[in-house]
Amino acid sequence: MQFYCETCGKEVLPEEGTVSWIDEGSILRDFSITHKNDQHHNCDPKYVGYIHLNFVTGISGFMKFNEVMYDYWAKGFTLQNAGRLKKVLNQIGLYIWEKQNKKQ
Ligand SMILES: [Zn+2]
Repeated sequence: MQFYCETCGKEVLPEEGTVSWIDEGSILRDFSITHKNDQHHNCDPKYVGYIHLNFVTGISGFMKFNEVMYDYWAKGFTLQNAGRLKKVLNQIGLYIWEKQNKKQ
């Protein structure tokens, strides 16, 4: 299981990557896994939220990410293009699953 940057298409090592999204105050959208320098969300950087890929691919980081999302929903945020978030979660889930299986 390897991550590929949504922007440049090259492999992203967990140490190099981020999961980022746009938070414009009431809407969350455009979740993507990219190199940290390739976030390119075409909006003011102050609207971009992100979490480091090497953190979110660990169990505690993954749970933290879920908490951050729940806080958004609790505040009434709307999720646009939900498929982008699902794709990110699927990749992280697969990565954690594979990492866990290698240990056994
Ligand atoms: Zn890249």
